[in-house]
Amino acid sequence: MADHFPISRIEGTAKPVCPYCGATHSERRDYAKHAGGTVGLVAGGVAGVTGAASGAELGGLVGLTAGPVGFVIGSMTGALIGCLVGASAGCVAGAKLGEVIDQRVLRNHLCLECGSTFSAE
Ligand SMILES: [Zn+2]
Repeated sequence: MADHFPISRIEGTAKPVCPYCGATHSERRDYAKHAGGTVGLVAGGVAGVTGAASGAELGGLVGLTAGPVGFVIGSMTGALIGCLVGASAGCVAGAKLGEVIDQRVLRNHLCLECGSTFSAE
């Protein structure tokens, strides 16, 4: 029963075939994915700074219970977390968006045989 794993149908292992020469040697370019990740990182970081203000406020309130030093540490930790969370969330969202653009809009595959670019779903 457990002997019949469908190993031939693992997702993402199918190689895209070049529509021009039929070769299976191609590489993904992922331009939009990388660009999206970078843009998302910056945008998320900027958005995170806004969140960092409220994070600092919250952290400061929590830290206040431990006195003035706790207030400073709490504020800094809250701001840092707000910024990091925003940046990483933005990076993931940007990369996802870029991946969609790569697949739907751009010709994401470069044929290593004839040099043609094509999109494969
Ligand atoms: Zn080709």
